[in-house]
Amino acid sequence: MSNARCLGCRLFRGWTHSPRAAAAAAASIVSAAAWLGKSISTCPLPPSQSRTLCDGKLLARALPDDHRDTVRVRRVAADIIAAVREDRVFERRRLSERTGHRVDHDIHWRVHVIIDDNWICAFSIYNGEIVVYTGILRRYCRKDAHLATLLGHEVAHVIARHTQRTYRMRFYIRVLAKCIEELLDAPVRGIPHAELVSLFMRPWHFSLELEADRVGLMLLAAAGYDPRDAPSFYRALEPLDDPSDQYTLTATHPSSKRRVEKLMMEHVMGEATKVFSQAVQWRMSPSGLRLKLPPAGRELV
Ligand SMILES: [Zn+2]
Repeated sequence: MSNARCLGCRLFRGWTHSPRAAAAAAASIVSAAAWLGKSISTCPLPPSQSRTLCDGKLLARALPDDHRDTVRVRRVAADIIAAVREDRVFERRRLSERTGHRVDHDIHWRVHVIIDDNWICAFSIYNGEIVVYTGILRRYCRKDAHLATLLGHEVAHVIARHTQRTYRMRFYIRVLAKCIEELLDAPVRGIPHAELVSLFMRPWHFSLELEADRVGLMLLAAAGYDPRDAPSFYRALEPLDDPSDQYTLTATHPSSKRRVEKLMMEHVMGEATKVFSQAVQWRMSPSGLRLKLPPAGRELV
């Protein structure tokens, strides 16, 4: 309590006794407000482009298109992307209503499998590129439903525009950190600016990862993969978690245990399971058979 009062006093003194701090804070707030108004309707990043954003050196290590691992990953990705693009309806509710995110139809989806058995990792870029390393693919995604869990998560990052939202949030946090530093006329308790920004960004990164898990679960269910297999994928990754990492400023992912708990919540898994049972029926129906897209279509991935 006394600390809070003390901080308040310091802030107030900063405003009233330091014209430099007041001017810096006012300029920061005005620029943040102007940027907020602009960024509500526009994206701070260039729109999706057909060109690749992946590093050329990385792509030089990609498996060939006709390799069985590439074919398999693209087949599962194509299933998920087809469900997203068609915005399938389950019990009169569209997939985009259930996930809260509508897909941008000009996204040029591409999937690369990179040869590196030591990397237990996958990532996606805002333009629709998805990269999967053989390390996670061959050890943790032997089952198609596990691969769909991984890919559903990455597709969810793209359609929920997590990169764009993170750029925007980082800007606000930097302004906020700068304001605090200027008003106190010093770095906060000796914390350097970058660490202060990381401290504020940490819960943001965690919330986006959990959102990608939840949205991804809905996507794989809509594509006809059993969502009840998803928790076992994250449980298998649990031994890789470093407990001390959860308390560092640079941690960007919640623990696997927490991710499983969130996925197993009734309103999350219950809804995904309902969508899955309807997706299976839809696949077997005449319209599902007619509309089902060919696997591993290069036009999709
Ligand atoms: Zn992620």
